Amino acid sequence: MTAVVPTRTADQVALADRHGVTNYAPLPVVLSHGEGAWVTDVDGNRYLDALAGYSALNFGHRHPVLTEAAHRQLDALTLTARAFHNDRLPAFQRDVAELTGTEAVLPMNTGAEAVESAIKVARAWGHRVRGIPEGRARIVVAGGNFHGRTTTIVGFSDDPSARDGFGPYADGFDRVPYGDSGALAAALTDDTAAVLIEPIQGEAGVIVPPPGYLAEVRRVTVERDVLLICDEIQSGLGRTGATLRSDTEGVRADLYTLGKALGGGIVPVSAVAGRRDVLGVLRPGEHGSTFGGNPFAAAVGSAVCGLLGTGEYQAAALELGGYLGERLRELPGFTAVRGAGLWFGCDVDPALGDGRAVCVELARRGVLAKETHGVTVRLSPPLVVTREEIDVLVDTLGQVLEDLARG
Ligand SMILES: *Cc1c(COP(=O)(O)O)cnc(C)c1O
Repeated sequence: MTAVVPTRTADQVALADRHGVTNYAPLPVVLSHGEGAWVTDVDGNRYLDALAGYSALNFGHRHPVLTEAAHRQLDALTLTARAFHNDRLPAFQRDVAELTGTEAVLPMNTGAEAVESAIKVARAWGHRVRGIPEGRARIVVAGGNFHGRTTTIVGFSDDPSARDGFGPYADGFDRVPYGDSGALAAALTDDTAAVLIEPIQGEAGVIVPPPGYLAEVRRVTVERDVLLICDEIQSGLGRTGATLRSDTEGVRADLYTLGKALGGGIVPVSAVAGRRDVLGVLRPGEHGSTFGGNPFAAAVGSAVCGLLGTGEYQAAALELGGYLGERLRELPGFTAVRGAGLWFGCDVDPALGDGRAVCVELARRGVLAKETHGVTVRLSPPLVVTREEIDVLVDTLGQVLEDLARG
């Protein structure tokens, strides 16, 4: 007898409740198909995807150039392990280096792995190049940071839901308030190897630091011979209207972490890109990944670099983001609207409800978004979205806020 395959939303949600783990509280929407900015659920309802996989889907669902590259590579070679060379990885490393204006590229899979890799590289550089006594290298991070979910990374988070209960925490991190370059400068000591920072804090609610902040962080890190690591996993690769948000701020980092959109929404691909002399502190056998740099991921990543190389997605993010921002700021019901490019955090007036309430109502009306930190609705539609689709998003959001206001 063949097992009954559940197909409808209610069945799927019940199945998820039975065998899933409770680390997510997804909206009750079960998706089975996607194309461009739109997804369809198992009951045939269509939704505008205004989250885009937290920016992993910057090019929308199943961009034909990316799926083409993936199909082609599936038919050639998918995995070799780094015990051997493969014929896609060097081109991927060149493509990322050319796109980002960097010298060397260390491939990994997930964002957290890229951040972990950057931490390891920065510590080794601190000990071996800067002459910090072995085991003493420290890294300065910002309050409100989000750099992933590994035990080391959550240990320097100040978000209780990310951190509490998961200790003991790794030593070697000093946290300063985000956006305060004076506090950051004061935290640098002779043992500081690096500053790790998001040019815009995504998970914290799309927090844009004051103008000149990143440039000042760069100035004081150069002065103290401290590495600057910009975590561009969410802010990079077109989202804010530039390939790297740091470039918009006139800042060159020593290392960048990249992820999310680097895999085109098809496969996890991350990387640390930066100075050859810094990444070059790693010796054979000191760091690696079974899947990192595999030819399938490299082929998709190269195709992503190709799309970003045209500049059209960055331009679209700027132009459409400007329009989306204008329209969002006209809506009653938000106490703050922050953003850059096609990326916004909108704080819901507590008199109306919280971010979750808004997202649940949005989903019921065919728009998918996700709340963060209670009050904030995060919007990051794919960069292939049209002006008309932005109107659908804002009009729906307006109706939801109006209905919540009416109670
Ligand atoms: C998402 C994210 C990460 C972690 O990426 P994963 O692929 O989920 O491990 C790290 N840093 C930033 C800024 C992110 O937005």
